[in-house]
Amino acid sequence: MSEFDELFSHLAGEPIPGGCDMCSADQILETLSPGVAILQIRHEDNCPILRASRRRAN
Ligand SMILES: [Zn+2]
Repeated sequence: MSEFDELFSHLAGEPIPGGCDMCSADQILETLSPGVAILQIRHEDNCPILRASRRRAN
């Protein structure tokens, strides 16, 4: 296991507080494949940034 994978395996699946200045979001790190991970930011429903990005998507 590489250092990267070892580091990220500790964090994967555990919510990490923060990630958004406008709400009390948390972040989930998901490992897609060895050496590849994505960080999802989970905003609160009433977050203005989330609302703005939903408007753009529609
Ligand atoms: Zn937010």
